[in-house]
Amino acid sequence: MQFIDLLSQKDRIRAALLQRIEGILDRGQFIMGPEVTELESRLASWVGSKHCVSCSSGTDALLMPLLAKGIGPGDAVFTTPFTFVATAEVISLAGATPVFVDVCPDTFNIDPDLIGHAVDEAVQRGLKPRALIPVDLFGLPADYDRLGAIASAYKLWILEDAAQSFGGSFRGRKAGSFGLVGATSFFPAKPLGCYGDGGAIFTDDDELDKLLRSIRVHGSGIDKYSNDRIGINGRLDSIQAAVLLEKLAIFDDELEARQRIADTYSKRLQGRVVVPRIPENYRSAWAQYSVIAASAEEREEMMQALQKEGIPTMIYYKIPLHLQKAYDFLGYKRGDFPVSEDLSSRIFALPMHPYLAEEEIEKICSVLLA
Ligand SMILES: *Cc1c(COP(=O)(O)O)cnc(C)c1O
Repeated sequence: MQFIDLLSQKDRIRAALLQRIEGILDRGQFIMGPEVTELESRLASWVGSKHCVSCSSGTDALLMPLLAKGIGPGDAVFTTPFTFVATAEVISLAGATPVFVDVCPDTFNIDPDLIGHAVDEAVQRGLKPRALIPVDLFGLPADYDRLGAIASAYKLWILEDAAQSFGGSFRGRKAGSFGLVGATSFFPAKPLGCYGDGGAIFTDDDELDKLLRSIRVHGSGIDKYSNDRIGINGRLDSIQAAVLLEKLAIFDDELEARQRIADTYSKRLQGRVVVPRIPENYRSAWAQYSVIAASAEEREEMMQALQKEGIPTMIYYKIPLHLQKAYDFLGYKRGDFPVSEDLSSRIFALPMHPYLAEEEIEKICSVLLA
């Protein structure tokens, strides 16, 4: 059994994709070709955002808005320690200081009640509070109603880390469209993935869109050889855009399949483990289906029982960021973010992809329920 099966999906799009790739080979425009332009306009309308700037990865999709907004030394950017390292890494790469805020125990997303205190503390440390990066963990959008109010009260702008939530929504509004700017990833294992690295940035802000397009190509002015600002090489390949165009065509169908699978898991496993809670008016993209065992020991037993039956599991995230060696210099210690630490010790993820068969789900559940 596969944790994420990309092969069944490939069979579904293979013929159409090969045709697109042949076109790219014939035209020879391998980077930022017409496929990229087509993809950007399709993605912008899919998300319901005025602009989409495609780019080289989810990490660059997070970094580029920070560069565009002039985030740098002395600035505090708030995010959670219960996420993939890229969320905090880009803050450091921009020269600013990541300030962590613990998550809610039931949604695993940033706890709005704790942000005010974190902002006050950052100010006491001499930092300038600038931005907030909520992460839509495992596919579930964060609480943008409350986050929006808190952000404006503290004059922070919001960068939505939608790397896992592309396809999710809140009150019908799609993930990627929240905050001033949203960033997503097309890493192969994400809900919408390409066959390499890729990402995209969404915004309604015309000025920011222009800056992002410049930063994507080395801070280009009228062309690549006139440089107005410091940028990066953040472009997307035409072949990756072709893959994404074909996958986008079947994406709604895949999201429904993910939802069906999550519903089956939850119905069967409720009571045995803590199953994910999706609050009213939210839809998850189900990048991961993570459950919580009663203890670290029980998690180990469950994962081993599954392993014995050839069922792969993963732990997202085993070490919260404030306890990672790379962030020693921030001076956090165990006990600083109790919810993230507790989740790290008990959470684990089950196989989740749109092509998981009924019999496979049944087998996974029966091992866990035995
Ligand atoms: C995957 C991921 C990223 C980074 O995306 P890449 O395309 O791998 O660079 C950022 N944030 C979160 C929450 C992610 O899961």
